[in-house]
Amino acid sequence: MNQSKPRVRFAPSPTGQLHVGNARTALYNWLFARRFGGDFLIRIEDTDIERSEARYETQLLEDLRWLGLDWDEGPQVGASKEIGPNGPYRQSERLEIYREHIERLLASGAAYRCFCTAEQLDAEREQAIAAHQPQVYSGRCRSISSDEIEFHLTKHEPFAVRLKIGAEPIRFHDMVRGAVEFAAEAVSDPILVRSSGMPVYNYVVTIDDALMRITHVIRGDDHLSNTPKQVAIYQAFGWPLPEFAHLSTILGPDKTRLSKRHGATSIASFREMGILPEALTNYLALLGWGAEGGTRETFTMAELAAEFTLERVTPSPAIFDFNKLYWLNRHYLKAAEPKRVAALARPYFAARGWLPEASSSDSIDGWFEQLLALFLPAVDQLDQLPEKARFLFAFDPVTAIADNENAAVLTNDSARKVLGEFAARIAMLPAPVTAEAFKAAMTEVKTASGAKGKDLFHPVRIALTGAHSGPEFDKVIPLIEAGSQLPLPTPVASVQQRVERFLAALPSR
Ligand code: GLU
Repeated sequence: MNQSKPRVRFAPSPTGQLHVGNARTALYNWLFARRFGGDFLIRIEDTDIERSEARYETQLLEDLRWLGLDWDEGPQVGASKEIGPNGPYRQSERLEIYREHIERLLASGAAYRCFCTAEQLDAEREQAIAAHQPQVYSGRCRSISSDEIEFHLTKHEPFAVRLKIGAEPIRFHDMVRGAVEFAAEAVSDPILVRSSGMPVYNYVVTIDDALMRITHVIRGDDHLSNTPKQVAIYQAFGWPLPEFAHLSTILGPDKTRLSKRHGATSIASFREMGILPEALTNYLALLGWGAEGGTRETFTMAELAAEFTLERVTPSPAIFDFNKLYWLNRHYLKAAEPKRVAALARPYFAARGWLPEASSSDSIDGWFEQLLALFLPAVDQLDQLPEKARFLFAFDPVTAIADNENAAVLTNDSARKVLGEFAARIAMLPAPVTAEAFKAAMTEVKTASGAKGKDLFHPVRIALTGAHSGPEFDKVIPLIEAGSQLPLPTPVASVQQRVERFLAALPSR
């Protein structure tokens, strides 16, 4: 094994969406490889044919790319695409390799055929339960004679293949947890190949990790109890052990295992919500790891790759803090190139028929960027933008007037006077109304109506935006006016149209 160059792998089963737990595992593997100039491999663990689906594999790989995790070996990379130097990288295509290696273990006597039937094993298990003994295999077939084996084989009886476990405890080193030890009895003689002929996870994962020359196995701690079985398989072949690193469980804010109940947990759903990949990777990196001597919270991928070490990964469970993720997302939305944010935000508006699907004209693109500059600071994620900007496209005086808080403002005697004066002045202004012209008009309305402060501004704001609070007029007026000049799929009503429609909808007393 070439220890100077680490080789790590992410080995997803394509049985569902990529979730944050596995994404963090992939990220830590990637960071470790990049930090130490190693290789990052992807291996698809699709031996569970009933639950594995090609579409999940496609989606998984797409999610990894979206997160910025590129791989050196695995599906979709390399000249011969699927078959790299250590491939194939899909377990369903490696069955022949697993078969050959089982023959070797049987020949060396490290593994044996087990002809026990399901009924026999069930009976054993029930006895163990009744006697309050651990439910482990009795080892009945461990020492059956070669004649007996022949006899079963000539009768074509199905058999499983089991590994012989010695009496010594199984020990390995874990880079996160330190020394780990399992009693041999707790492992018993594990099945390597089922009687159906299907090799099991612990067996195939070990063959693959060894043949792919994996130096560090970094994965979730749900696999910790599998590791002694894998260690025993390495030993049966006389192969050197890799380093292991088991990452702690991710919990929800209520300290139970993170699940859908807690909210979005799949990478795809975070992407759909409009979380930026750099916010998610930054967040996941900090979920169980921290940089040397610091409380620093923001890291680019390059910075993470320069600082990441497994020694600084914590063995205690990590609590997924959605608010911290949103905080990081706001940070990265602010920092991102406006054109990129516009391209990412556009589909949310196009889906409502408010903007054309694709970038169509510089004037629309420029206006949309102006809109984003105004509303972006008010959102955690991109899918919240349309609600903030709804008044521009779906201006509805009736709903605005019916709103309780607005009604309280509008019943004030001076509100109607303010709106009347405002409408009269706006009607005389050339379109588009500038922020300066608006300001001047408001000064005149103030004098004419005698209203000031809230009494002056709230009715006007409600008439133009449907709410008595919101972004500054200096920004909103030019946005409304510029939008009203554009050929948008849903026209934006101008300031003048808004106030006229509002007055027309206002019930007379
Ligand atoms: N295929 C396993 C899983 O998705 C990963 C196994 C491993 O990393 O060893 O949980």
